[in-house]
Amino acid sequence: MSGKTGKLFIVAGPSGVGKGTVLKKFLEHNDNLIYSISTTTRKPREGEVEGVNYFYVSREKFEQMIEEDAFLEWAEYSGNLYGTSKKYVTKKLNEGYDIILEIEVQGVKKIMKKNLDAVSIFIMPPSQEVLEERLRGRKTESEEAVQKRLSAAKEEMKNAHLFKYQIKNITVEQAFGELQSVYESEKN
Ligand code: 5GP
Repeated sequence: MSGKTGKLFIVAGPSGVGKGTVLKKFLEHNDNLIYSISTTTRKPREGEVEGVNYFYVSREKFEQMIEEDAFLEWAEYSGNLYGTSKKYVTKKLNEGYDIILEIEVQGVKKIMKKNLDAVSIFIMPPSQEVLEERLRGRKTESEEAVQKRLSAAKEEMKNAHLFKYQIKNITVEQAFGELQSVYESEKN
């Protein structure tokens, strides 16, 4: 660490685009980079772990946290609430760490309004067909949930131009490589 304040990176992209896999590799390669764990009212999916994937809370608790101004940003997505901890992100940036927020587009817009000097990156699927295949391949969601996520994805894609960078996730290696280049050039 250099003693300087860290940089905030915001990564968004439709659900099922494979952001998680690319980000995992990205985080493994960069010691100074921290993933901000969000708070959500969504129920854990199979295999998800409290404090690793999310902090899972009730809607009542989440609303109380909004009242307490605990979130840097928050949004409702697909019927659930999601929020970024203001305290955690501020503390880590001040300690000199770079932070990644993996959030949806409404939250990104809220961060952009705050002039936090955040670097925004949109991860795109190679095509609509591939996105649909990937969403179905996950098999953790009902057909209704898949349909809901597909239409949310279409809406989200309309916002890709708002981001400073757009990266197509064709393969994990290629998307990771492009993300790493963005990181290195933004750090210098
Ligand atoms: P999922 O339910 O698939 O884990 O997440 C649904 C969407 O919520 C994804 O686009 C994810 O990036 C987004 N998300 C996760 N955490 C946050 C957050 O703290 N704030 C906002 N605005 N979106 C989030």
